[in-house]
Amino acid sequence: MEETKICPFCGKEVLAIAKKCKYCNNWFNIECPYCAEEINPMETECPHCHSKLDSKLKNINNNKNENKINKKEESQNQCQTNHLMLLLK
Ligand SMILES: [Zn+2]
Ligand SMILES: [Zn+2]
Repeated sequence: MEETKICPFCGKEVLAIAKKCKYCNNWFNIECPYCAEEINPMETECPHCHSKLDSKLKNINNNKNENKINKKEESQNQCQTNHLMLLLK
């Protein structure tokens, strides 16, 4: 049986050795490019070697394309109702 841990972002169970949550795609730890220690991806500076972290390491969480709402049909129905009202007069 493999060891697991709880994702701090979504609360689901993932493999203990996982570097990235397979449910919410958040990274748990990244490797410092300077000293190779594991660090939190939210850090702006490595706590081990105090190097400033490259901004490209921090772009991994910006993949949120949602909220596509189509209200076109609704307004068309409204229009038709208005026409009927005019015809009834
Ligand atoms: Zn997660
Ligand atoms: Zn470092």
